[in-house]
Amino acid sequence: MNKYDFITCADVTAARDRIAPYINRTPLVRAESFTPEIYLKLETLQRTGAFKIRGAMNRILQLDESEKKRGVVTVSTGNHGRAVAYAARMTGTKATICMSDMVPQNKRDAIGALGADIVIEGHSQDEAAIAADRMVKSGNMVMVPPFDDPDILAGQATIGLEIHDDVPQAQTILVPLSGGGLMGGIAFAMKSLNPAVRVIGVSTIQCPAMARSIEAGKPVDVVENDSLADSLGGGIGQDNRYSFPLIRDLVDDIILVSEDEIAAAMRYLFLREGLVTEGGAAVCVAAILADKIDLQEPVVCVLSGRNVDMRHFLDIVRSS
Ligand SMILES: *Cc1c(COP(=O)(O)O)cnc(C)c1O
Repeated sequence: MNKYDFITCADVTAARDRIAPYINRTPLVRAESFTPEIYLKLETLQRTGAFKIRGAMNRILQLDESEKKRGVVTVSTGNHGRAVAYAARMTGTKATICMSDMVPQNKRDAIGALGADIVIEGHSQDEAAIAADRMVKSGNMVMVPPFDDPDILAGQATIGLEIHDDVPQAQTILVPLSGGGLMGGIAFAMKSLNPAVRVIGVSTIQCPAMARSIEAGKPVDVVENDSLADSLGGGIGQDNRYSFPLIRDLVDDIILVSEDEIAAAMRYLFLREGLVTEGGAAVCVAAILADKIDLQEPVVCVLSGRNVDMRHFLDIVRSS
């Protein structure tokens, strides 16, 4: 039975059908370098280089003509902005992306190349959000939130349907966790299909906003420290309505990983599995390598994106 009025299984299957022409149905592969039965869901091979196109496309495909004319605005640590810029371009919509100066240059450049307007403001995702709110009010633009939105959650939840189709016997799902759009969506879809599955979130010690909020029982602000996992920065929003309750109710545990553990996982995935991941995508493997997970097999790790500056990436994988 579903106790949420903002997301249903029908919403998720509708999202899957709606976005299917615009996204890749990504592979789920056995990680053969591990002895335990571990699978990797390769959203690194997703269009725009990260899973965020699923939610953004699901939201933007539902705008009416007058909303498309007014244009969309969002706040992003980079990947959501790129997804919104891409989805806007596909649908003939104008997009403005607000980011803080923490967002790496490679991510800003990719957004600019898609023709979106870029606004850089503040030194944290929360400060950049103030700029986005201002534009919604002054320019009468449509907000496409990065995670706290039913259509975004339903879009990210389509990953859960694909995992269930490919490895229905999965016992443990590990998901990178920041604002909770990815994990809230996946947890909703997968627990609807199999209530016994364990869903574990992995965040960075540098910015554990959701973990602290769950402990406090309400959204709390945390300092956004620099991290290799730049896409996991930012708070969950003081007025969070959707992703926080889903994570609170559905998630079995939240694990935190350090910068060294993230670097080790990026190196491991490259050298042992031949995969390029950005820091935010490597956190689940980081938690496994650091022996922080009780591995009830089969295990699925979501590798959420690959948008890392390649010079920086090569420095990380060359060091030891
Ligand atoms: C946005 C993002 C996440 C976290 O997703 P949330 O919905 O904010 O929890 C994880 N990995 C990558 C690569 C991302 O871009």
